[in-house]
Amino acid sequence: MKDYPISVRHLNHWFGRGEARKQAVFDLSIDIAPGSLTVMVGPSGSGKTTVLTLMGCLRQVEDGSVQLLGHELRGAAEPTLEALRRELGFIFQAHNLHESLTARQNVMMGLQVHGKGYEGLRVEAVEHMLDLVGLGHRLDYLPANLSGGQKQRVAIARALIAGPRVVFADEPTAALDKDSGHQVVTMLKALGRERGTTTVMVTHDSRILDMADRIVTLEEGRLVKDEGAVVSVSSRSTK
Ligand code: ADP
Ligand code: MG
Repeated sequence: MKDYPISVRHLNHWFGRGEARKQAVFDLSIDIAPGSLTVMVGPSGSGKTTVLTLMGCLRQVEDGSVQLLGHELRGAAEPTLEALRRELGFIFQAHNLHESLTARQNVMMGLQVHGKGYEGLRVEAVEHMLDLVGLGHRLDYLPANLSGGQKQRVAIARALIAGPRVVFADEPTAALDKDSGHQVVTMLKALGRERGTTTVMVTHDSRILDMADRIVTLEEGRLVKDEGAVVSVSSRSTK
């Protein structure tokens, strides 16, 4: 459906070949409302990361349908996927920072990849974003000289700097202490409100669950619980 930034229908996914072939996602259908914070929970191995990477163009959709920002991902050509990825922000548990670049330079990479804005504006935007995540005083530090939580906040700043339309986050607060974890998610929520950014996040952090608009539970590759879903007028009328 066009009104949803993410719309998944009958998604199945398998890993491995032959004897080792194993189904990881079973007939998943879900619509994600614009500007919402959807949290995905479930035991380890339940398919959360697989679903996130399928929605985020990081893994090929082989069966069923994923519509992302109005584009069908199944069978999509690489240039389409590349253009779509530029509209996305990714935050992973492992921060994936460049060790040889400072906090400022790492976040700048998030803009250079997108080619957005001219130099002066970029510098200002990068400083502002790092300030927002509480690292205004660590601009020129290398990752080696930052704590785990600080590194993760740099990664978050990098993911958000270009103003993505959809953010995919996989346990982004795992390395953060309670307060900074809360701050980061508060920030993501504020972005959702201000810019209409849609966020899908995997987390077990109970304080973040409290902030979710919707909590989706996966078990053994199946959607088994869906709490707080924003029901659209059209789907309500079909019930
Ligand atoms: P979660 O993120 O909920 O812990 P995953 O999506 O990582 O779960 O994994 C779901 C299932 O798919 C698990 O059984 C896992 O072993 C399997 N799986 C995930 N990634 C791969 C892979 N690259 N190759 C083979 N099996 C995989
Ligand atoms: Mg995972």
